[in-house]
Amino acid sequence: MSQSMLALNNFAAAGMSALDPVERSLLERRSRTFGSGVPLFYARPLNFVRAEGVWMFDHEGRRYLDAYNNVPSVGHCHPHVVAAIARQAAQLNTHTRYLSDVVSSYAERLLGYFAAPLSRVLFTSSGTESVDLALRMAQYQTGGTGLVVTRFAYHGHSMAVAQITPAFGSGVALGAHVRTVAAPDGFRGTGPVAENFAAAVQAAIDDLERHGIGFAALVTDTLFTSDGVFADPAGFLRPAVDAVHRAGGLYVADEVQPGFGRTGSGMWGYSRHGIVPDIVVMGKPMGNGMPIAAVVTRAEILESLAAHTGYFNTFGGNTVCCAAAAAVLDVIEQESLIARAARVGGVLRSGVAALQARYPVIGDVRGAGLYLGVEIVAAADGQSPDTAAALRIVNGLRERQILISTCGAEGNVLKIRPPLQFSEENAAQLLEEIESLLRQG
Ligand code: PMP
Repeated sequence: MSQSMLALNNFAAAGMSALDPVERSLLERRSRTFGSGVPLFYARPLNFVRAEGVWMFDHEGRRYLDAYNNVPSVGHCHPHVVAAIARQAAQLNTHTRYLSDVVSSYAERLLGYFAAPLSRVLFTSSGTESVDLALRMAQYQTGGTGLVVTRFAYHGHSMAVAQITPAFGSGVALGAHVRTVAAPDGFRGTGPVAENFAAAVQAAIDDLERHGIGFAALVTDTLFTSDGVFADPAGFLRPAVDAVHRAGGLYVADEVQPGFGRTGSGMWGYSRHGIVPDIVVMGKPMGNGMPIAAVVTRAEILESLAAHTGYFNTFGGNTVCCAAAAAVLDVIEQESLIARAARVGGVLRSGVAALQARYPVIGDVRGAGLYLGVEIVAAADGQSPDTAAALRIVNGLRERQILISTCGAEGNVLKIRPPLQFSEENAAQLLEEIESLLRQG
């Protein structure tokens, strides 16, 4: 059975003896209530009770540098967002079947970050719901059902979306209407990334058609984060999206991870590729932790959904979530977080590249803005994934009170994606501790 991404950087019962009484009791209560299927990070799990900016604090008051969490993207418990949530919660929290200036103002403001044809938005409560809704729209619009995704993509956990999420591993069946293609991997792949990816997408479309399955959409994370973070060369998505359009399909950009400024070059990961998607889905950082997510698309694609059925989602776009999401946009703008992601991400990336020159276990460093993937490989050949070494770094950093994790089909790629308030000083601390661990071997 191929490994599930839920197993990456997972706690194993062997680490039990290292826990203090508070942690041990929480762990026991957790397993009694959740059972065994809900993963927990780190060989020695963490019990956080408070957070602020880029810092998280455990029950003993120990402070951890957060270089991992991209949901509290504008900073943990950002006072401007907290105040907006508290104010709106004290005034009104309801659903979208009433008129609301708070909700309509946010919808207009969010659409202001998109080029003209992308002029409609629907709100949901999670990335999964957004992807699910995007699939329905794509199938109504094209009349096809066939979907193409990358080989270790993660798009969510509903029945329909799990069928396009190979990252769950071989224990979860992909749909018969789903084809996977190799991620646009410029490290292990050979030849031009853009042309190879487009050719793979075209072959998948042809295969669907040959099986009598009409093509509906290519769905990708625009940073391919679950596959292992693939960002360069910018523009590589364009030929694949052209192929999709020639075949009469739609391109669905999953911005759940890259969206809201993380890539340091605009709000959305797709803009680095010079493309305009047909449907964009977003979530995670949108409400800085409040459950708000969205689907943005063209008017006629939304109409094809409306022609079949209406759309209502009890919690999607509730007033408090929209107030939080508007406050998130305020912070991104007022604190120039996109420029900051570019600047601090650049410092971090060149710092890891300098380590790569000295430590052959770093096979590659890649990403965009404050989303980095660092490939840990066998020093002997500079290519073979070294998952155990990656986990040693992740758990070593955890002992030094710094949070990161792993991604990629082999779980050997360090996943670094801190809140966007991360500073040059924070980057220096992270680099110093990574180097100290590498020096120990
Ligand atoms: N798309 C991507 C790229 C994701 O990373 C995730 C969550 N990891 C989702 C969709 C699903 O989002 P959610 O967990 O909010 O349902």
